Amino acid sequence: MSTIDNLPPLRDVINTHDLKARKSLGQNFLLDLNLTAKIARQAGDMTECDVLEIGPGPGGLTRGLLSEGARRVLAIEKDKRCLPALAEISDAYPDRLMVIEGDALEIDPLAHLTPPIRIAANLPYNVGTELLVRWLTPQEWPPFWQSLTLMFQREVAERIVAKPGSKAYGRLALLAQWRADARIVLNLPPEAFTPPPKVSSAVVHLTALPEPRFPADPAVLNRIVAAAFNQRRKMLRSALKGAAPDIEDRLLAAGLKPTERAEQVPLEGFCALAREIAKT
Ligand code: SAM
Repeated sequence: MSTIDNLPPLRDVINTHDLKARKSLGQNFLLDLNLTAKIARQAGDMTECDVLEIGPGPGGLTRGLLSEGARRVLAIEKDKRCLPALAEISDAYPDRLMVIEGDALEIDPLAHLTPPIRIAANLPYNVGTELLVRWLTPQEWPPFWQSLTLMFQREVAERIVAKPGSKAYGRLALLAQWRADARIVLNLPPEAFTPPPKVSSAVVHLTALPEPRFPADPAVLNRIVAAAFNQRRKMLRSALKGAAPDIEDRLLAAGLKPTERAEQVPLEGFCALAREIAKT
């Protein structure tokens, strides 16, 4: 295994600091530094950016981000056992890595970051999806981040980039594609991780658009998309019954057929409906 810095190989780091992977923290580590550097490169040019990394673990991706030129990395890690290993990386990259111990779902990192900001992470999948939804749903746009480069279970990655008419198409695709460009940039087999998870993974890269693709109020759009896909087999007129008393008229005014199903409706259609529903 080649190294990208003068630090020890990750297998040695794990042995030295006794970082046996814990299932409860969703720990599946990336130990190949060529691979972590490749993932880091998917984040784009980081030389002028602060990078927020969630869940650095023993620091494989962190080292990739730093060796690929990130101006600064702010890493949030829940497992305090990883802190000594991360401190060694901080020493090797003076003033470029700051580590916060804690739960990324509870910490607001903004006070420690200077724009422009990119986000990169290989996270447990449940935490990753929850953070992704938060990052995609601020009331104001553009968001605090320029891009997100995130590892997901392959099946979740496919839901993020899905197009209408496919089984994977739903709330996650609409949230992601309304205000961002989303692409799968890398596929990884289970063996890329230690220990290997049960399923394949993929890295998704999302770039924030300067403004939404189509106008709509975020809260209204969120609400109708959630209702429509909660009952994805039903026709829109019944799935969205609770959204407005005259939902059939609103659907027609938005150019949608009341008998259509949510998975056939493109983003533009949901945005048109959100605008109709927002009218008093
Ligand atoms: N980034 C490392 C890598 O690629 O090898 C570790 C990846 S491992 C899949 C996920 C990491 O996220 C673990 O180090 C775990 O302790 C950490 N983690 C889990 N839940 C977290 C949370 N809520 N906040 C911050 N870190 C978390």
